[in-house]
This record gives sequence, structure tokens and C-alpha cells, in this order.
Amino acid sequence: MPVVRRADASGADSTVHREVARLAEHPGVRRAALQFRSQEFRHIQWQLEMARIPAPPFGENARAEWLAKRFRELGLEDVHTDEVGNVFGIRGGSAQPFVALSAHIDTVFPAGTPLNIRQQGTRLFGPGVSDNGAGVAALLAVAAALRAADLSLAAPILFIGNVGEEGEGDLRGMRHIFAEPRWKNSIRQSLVLDGAGCDTIVAEALGSRRFEVIVRGPGGHSWSDFGAPNPIVVLARTIQGFTQTRVPTAPKTTFNIGVIRGGTSVNSIPESASMRVDIRSTSMAEMERLEASLRRELDLAIAEEARASEQRNPTQRRSSGLSDEVVVIGSRPAGELDPDARMLKVIRAVDAHLGNAAQIQRASTDANIPLSMGREAIAIGGGGTGGGAHTLQEWFDSNGRELGLQRILLTVLALAGLAE
Ligand SMILES: [Zn+2]
Repeated sequence: MPVVRRADASGADSTVHREVARLAEHPGVRRAALQFRSQEFRHIQWQLEMARIPAPPFGENARAEWLAKRFRELGLEDVHTDEVGNVFGIRGGSAQPFVALSAHIDTVFPAGTPLNIRQQGTRLFGPGVSDNGAGVAALLAVAAALRAADLSLAAPILFIGNVGEEGEGDLRGMRHIFAEPRWKNSIRQSLVLDGAGCDTIVAEALGSRRFEVIVRGPGGHSWSDFGAPNPIVVLARTIQGFTQTRVPTAPKTTFNIGVIRGGTSVNSIPESASMRVDIRSTSMAEMERLEASLRRELDLAIAEEARASEQRNPTQRRSSGLSDEVVVIGSRPAGELDPDARMLKVIRAVDAHLGNAAQIQRASTDANIPLSMGREAIAIGGGGTGGGAHTLQEWFDSNGRELGLQRILLTVLALAGLAE
């Protein structure tokens, strides 16, 4: 979850503030919130247990099964797993629309990574304990608290443990949910729990497009075939042209050439060369403009190198033999929550009520999918603190987790509403 800070524009709404204050005073809600402290040992157990089950991208089955069992134990209804491995459970009936509360269950760690998960006091260590052990533990903590408090909800809450958030997963779990007729139009708001903490509100979806650009040519000997077109030169020309493309600072848009490969030896004209390009923005239009520029510069570079090849070797007229391929290796849609969205007012009011300082941020999370469809969605942390995400040194500290859990509970209840 790469995160970029944005200038804070706090919009306080007094009606929503009163609503949240009333909600927090409700005896059932207080009962639910009290659970968080008394059940902390369980939260830790869940987190340790789950982190010990490997969940590499495209290998989340065992963890999904574990989560479905927890959902059933916590009395969620209609617990099931869909064909890509997302786990669902409902509290509060099946009348639509739903408020979705989700946490991704996959990790970045490939199969076979040693999962040395351990606890020292309030600290947990090991791959995935925070990202997304903290999110899943919070998901279960809220389900448990709602059960204990026995609140009747105006709109049901859809609990989701989804697959495929990280890297090559490319948000496939969320993509699938928002393409499903059953969920696509019935999820009104999505609250995504990702990692630890309670000091952020991700309301801007940072989009990305990633490409592998491959150029192939006839190759040859550097001396005897001099003149043959050179794929490395084509890439160099493409990079030269593409990196001149102007990008706006708002909406912030970036590009990077991250990997370049090609050739076999100093005295061979390469038969192929490739590069990996990363484009990011909160604006779909900017990403499309940059992609178009990349493709245009590649076409121009091929034409130029074909011409240059002819000039180098005018006696040997032949077709240049150059070809290119642009493979999309990642695509995450961009989007942004309407500043007037109820969801933003609610989380702001909850933070004000709890005396919690949080900043709006821009990141790439599961919320990208609903946000890119113009739906209300935010991503927040599961409380506590954590660090070293995506490394073997990852850690989580449960100190102060209660605040994060209360924040999630009040937000989800304010969105769903109480039936009384
Ligand atoms: Zn995560």
C-alpha cells in the first residue's frame, strides 16, 4: 500500500457529529465497544493463527477456509466462499443494500517463505502479522462485538475476507466482487481494513498501469551485419521520447522505467530487448494519456530505427524485421471519493468524537475498485501499530488497538444505522 500524503481538508458536519455522538452513547454500542478490551487475547490468537497459514498470491485457499470457520463461529449468516476464493458472511439480514466491511487475506510472500510468527508481550512478529493480520483481526473483532451486543441493524453488514489485493493479485478479489450481479449494485459503501493504525483515511485511489514492452529484430554480428536494426536502440529512443511527456502535479501523475533487459554479448546485435514501465495517477484520463504517449513513442522509435538501419546499410535493402509487443502486466483503476460523500463525513465525525487525528491519503488498496466505479469507499487501518510491511521483519503492536476498533465499529454502525 504505497501511501502519499495529501493536504488535509477537514469538513466537519454538525448533523453527522450529533448522530455519531448519539450512536456512541447507545447501550448496545457501548456493550459492543467494551468487548474490545476484554477480548484482546482472542484478537491476538486470531492474528497469530492466521499469519501461520501461508497465503501467497493465488494461494489463499487454506486461509480462506480458516476464515470461513471463524465467520461461522461468530454467527454470521450465509457464510460462503466464491469461485475466486473470497469469503463472505452477513450480519443483519439480507435486505439490500449492504455496507461492506472487508480485509484482504493474501500476502506478498511467495509459497515456501518461512513463516516464523511469534509473540513478545503486545508485539507480534513475522510476515503478514500486520498486513493484513491487523485488518483481518479487526474484521473478526467487529463481528464478535456485534454478536455479543446483539444490535439490530437497519442495513446488513457484509463481512468479506478477499483474495488478491497485493502485487500480482492486482485487486482480483475485489474486481470479482464488483463484477458479480449479487454484489455489484447491492454494496452501498465499502469500508476496507488494511494494515495497522488509525491515523489515515485512504479516500483517493492511486491507479497504476504497468507494461512490459518487448522489441524484437533480426539480430546479427556487430561487424558483418552492421546496419541491422537494433532493439536496444529502439527502446532507448522510446525512453528518450516518452520521458519528455509532461505530467501534471495535480492530479499527481508519475512514470518510471524500472527494468530494462536485452542483448547477449558486446559483439552481437540483439534479437530482443524489453523494459518495464510503471504509470501512476489518481486520474484515469492522465493514465490513458501516458499510455497513448508510450505507444506513440514506441511506433516512432521503430520507424526511426528502420530508417536509420537503411541509411547505415543502403546496399542491403530489406524490411527492417522489427516488431514490438506491449503486454499489460498490471492495471489498477484510479478514482476519488466525492468530498461531500456521507462516508467521509461519517469517518470525520467518528474521528472527532474519539479525539483521533487522521489524514486523508492517496494509496492503492481494495478501495480502488469501488472508487473507480463512483461508489463510496475508504480504506483505514485495523488499529494498533505496525511496520516492516512486505518484509520478513514485519511487526505489529496491539497497544492502543481498542481505539482503532472503536473507530471501525462506530463508522460501520453509522453507515448501516440501527433499526430502533
Ligand atoms: Zn495490505
